[in-house]
Amino acid sequence: MKKIIVVGSSNTDMVIKAERLAAPGETIIGGKFLMNAGGKGANQAVASARLGCPTVFVCRVGDDIFGRQALQQFALEEINTDYVIVDAENPSGVALINVDAKGENCITVAPGANAYLSIEDIENAWSIFEQNDILLIQLETPIETVEYTIQKAHESGVKVILNPAPAAQLSSSVFPFIHIITPNETEAELLTGVKVTDFASAQKAGQVFTELGVQNILITLGAKGVYLKSADFEGIVETPQVVAIDTTAAGDCFSGALAVAIHEEKTLVEAAKFASKAASIAVTRMGAQASMPSRAEM
Ligand code: ATP
Repeated sequence: MKKIIVVGSSNTDMVIKAERLAAPGETIIGGKFLMNAGGKGANQAVASARLGCPTVFVCRVGDDIFGRQALQQFALEEINTDYVIVDAENPSGVALINVDAKGENCITVAPGANAYLSIEDIENAWSIFEQNDILLIQLETPIETVEYTIQKAHESGVKVILNPAPAAQLSSSVFPFIHIITPNETEAELLTGVKVTDFASAQKAGQVFTELGVQNILITLGAKGVYLKSADFEGIVETPQVVAIDTTAAGDCFSGALAVAIHEEKTLVEAAKFASKAASIAVTRMGAQASMPSRAEM
């Protein structure tokens, strides 16, 4: 059975909850400490694997405790790690996250090995692109590697799903190689220049993406659903109404689940419904990878 190829980042999130955030130069005593596996690439690979789809992950981790933990976690999720590179020179990516009593946060990411995922790494993993036909990729690794991978995958007949997160500029030449793009409102605004808040503004942003050459556009609008524009459909696909308690990695769950639905040859409307359902389950639970639903729950 063919696999979904995920190319992206793996991080360890270290979270300290405290009454308030420390001021510059200040030390404060916090409360609970949590260490969670994260990174958009890893989150999306877990979402895909947990929904029952064979998944292969291409990333770089450091030769350290965080890298080893990440590899163990990928194995538990049955993610193929043949192309995970253990980088002897650079540490694993980490994010230091402080959260105050109101949920306000302050995050510093040290990308570490993620920043060294190179074109050569992709070349070395190329045999998996020859054997499979769906690529899911984000923007948490070097942009030149992302753009190279998108173009080469497209030229080799692999369908490219780009989750353009975190928000970053892309060269205009890459858009025609994208089969599906899945920005949230902020990312859509950065890439199109249109402030997206509702259907009318999403439509304008969708038109800009079409003019740039993207084939299918899904702009996630949180609890308001998803704006979908494809050759034969334009409209809002509703998301199930739930009581959200933590939206961390909702977008990652959405993109991972969308890739699974495309792998299963669902139509785009069906795929958007499937991804919305998965993400609506994820927001009812705490955490990133921990919140991703299984196929049985779906
Ligand atoms: P995050 O940055 O928190 O990972 P995001 O900003 O990338 O998320 P959103 O558009 O907020 O992405 O959410 C992605 C999907 O998650 C939505 O399309 C929707 O299906 C689901 N979702 C998010 N928030 C809610 C909510 N409050 N209720 C139901 N579903 C939600």
